[in-house]
Amino acid sequence: MNAAMGKICFVNCSTHEITEEILEPSFYESYLSGVGLGVAILRREKIAQVNPFSKDNMLGFVSGLLTGSGSVVTGRWMAVCKSPITGGWGDANCGGTLSLGIKQCGYDGIFFTGEFEKPSIFVCDETGPRIEDASLYWGLDAIESEEKLIEAFSTKKRCVVATIGQAGENGSLIATISNDRGRMAARSGVGFVMGQKKLKAVVLRGNEKVQVADRKKMGELSGEYSKKVRKLSLPHVVKGSMLPMFGKIMSKSKKAHMMDGILSAPIMKKYGTNFANTALMFAGDNPVKNWGGSARDISKEYMKQANPDRLLRKEVKKYHCSSCVIGCGAIIKTERLQESHKPEYETINSFGALLLNHDIDLIDDLNDLCNRAGIDTIAAGSTIAFAMECYQNQLMEESFWEGIECTWGNTEAITVLLNKMIRKEGIGNIFGDGVGVATRHIPNSQKFAMIAGNVEPGMHDPRFDPQLGVHFSADPTPGRHTIGSSQYYNYMRLWEQVSWAPKVKSGTPLSNEYQVSEENALKSMASTCIKSVVDGSGGCLFAMIMGLDHWPLFQWLNAATGWEKTADEYMIIGHRIALARQQFNVEAGIQPKSFLMNPRLYGVPAQSEGPNRGKSYDLNGMVEKHFEALGCSIDGIPLESTLNTLNL
Ligand code: SF4
Repeated sequence: MNAAMGKICFVNCSTHEITEEILEPSFYESYLSGVGLGVAILRREKIAQVNPFSKDNMLGFVSGLLTGSGSVVTGRWMAVCKSPITGGWGDANCGGTLSLGIKQCGYDGIFFTGEFEKPSIFVCDETGPRIEDASLYWGLDAIESEEKLIEAFSTKKRCVVATIGQAGENGSLIATISNDRGRMAARSGVGFVMGQKKLKAVVLRGNEKVQVADRKKMGELSGEYSKKVRKLSLPHVVKGSMLPMFGKIMSKSKKAHMMDGILSAPIMKKYGTNFANTALMFAGDNPVKNWGGSARDISKEYMKQANPDRLLRKEVKKYHCSSCVIGCGAIIKTERLQESHKPEYETINSFGALLLNHDIDLIDDLNDLCNRAGIDTIAAGSTIAFAMECYQNQLMEESFWEGIECTWGNTEAITVLLNKMIRKEGIGNIFGDGVGVATRHIPNSQKFAMIAGNVEPGMHDPRFDPQLGVHFSADPTPGRHTIGSSQYYNYMRLWEQVSWAPKVKSGTPLSNEYQVSEENALKSMASTCIKSVVDGSGGCLFAMIMGLDHWPLFQWLNAATGWEKTADEYMIIGHRIALARQQFNVEAGIQPKSFLMNPRLYGVPAQSEGPNRGKSYDLNGMVEKHFEALGCSIDGIPLESTLNTLNL
């Protein structure tokens, strides 16, 4: 089989039985690999019907179809399960090196069911797959365990490791799975499911090669794309301190934000995602003060400290996920940290602007703490923001707070509460599972719970970009900021390859994006389908946003597999994957419309100041139209006819 390894592995943690299954080539033509493989297997095994907190839940590690094929920016892997947070479909996407590691072991996916009696690790090397005792590693943080496992299981060839930290071991619903010392599969509660199975780590060291149909073509396509990305660099005259101006200009514009997506490559190469912490603050994209504030609450000191040029000075080297030519990550060194992943935009915002914390350097430490403990920084920061608003509104007696003064921007409170959440100690038992669980313990707190379907959304504001709100509310994994937005759509220029994707012309009024319309529904559907293709291929969102007119995803898929599919045909596969995720939720008894986000997030009531002043929209109407475009009822239930057409 070209591109795929054609084989998956099942591990029954309860019986220690390890089995393999060969998949037919036609399977990959229906689902690609990655998230498509994950959802097809979990649906086949009827995981939607199991209790996500029981040992019957299944946890899968799946690689992308293009990983290892010679394509670039296609080395991402995903963890899949039934989410204990939503009770529905769960997946979490991660960079790092594990995707290639899975394929080098001869698999496209490794799936775990049951539960180990005592902490264990799964190892796959030249002797094949096996289970080993994890007592030496259980209790260690994610980075320490990874280092020790690499030392113990590497030969001349270094192994790759996915592991949980204390948050996963302690049963936090917002626990992550870590790979490559702090690249995180962070969402859907995947770290909780791994901890529940007492699976401390997955250790992989294989030598198998990925076969491709047309290696020459793969090389040509990759060479051309890599050359283009490498050539682009930010002119020296552009300084980090100028970036807020960019946001101010955006906030004044009445036209759809259009540009050639590839122009974001130089800024991502230089600053990584951190550029957005200041560049988009005045545009209204960065949530402030538990989504209730605005750029007006942000001090000059915050903007000075978050200046990406200043953050750049802490970098000791750039970080690239496997096969990536962009390299948006970095490793930093500070007075207190020897070596740590540079906090991403999301982390800086969730522990910074969202809490009115202006001490950006502290966020390096909080990020390291979260990476070690294996806890989702978006969810953790959002939960502290929720706690702060509950505290300010005196929803609980003073004694409830265990002496923590949860006032906006209180750095000591942030640090103490985060540590308690990780350890699930005292008040940490209430906040350590995220906002959704905490609301059950705090009467009248729902209005401060900035969630969609129990999930804390990514740090991009749907009042600034309404299509984000549609995906936050309609995706089977709600709150997900990586599916689509109007900006992503405009930058990726899908319409140049997909016949039915609406073209956005430059000069289109921005107000169109706030309307319930067929065109917007087709755009959100197109984003859903293409993101499913990207997630089936192991591609990175950032390459997608930089433009499918540059990043030759469809051409790579054909050259790697030998298929001769059109972009439209790949979009049908994306549609199938997306609807399989949706149908999983229906099979789990979830009403898709129940994921609608907190009204504050779509401007109800509208803000009276700041860049999103007066902005609100009919989220319900937009979500209903989106569901209809996908071939579902207005409530999000896939129609029988759609399921038949897509062979679901
Ligand atoms: S662009 Fe960044 S996140 Fe994406 S694959 Fe490259 S290094 Fe990883």
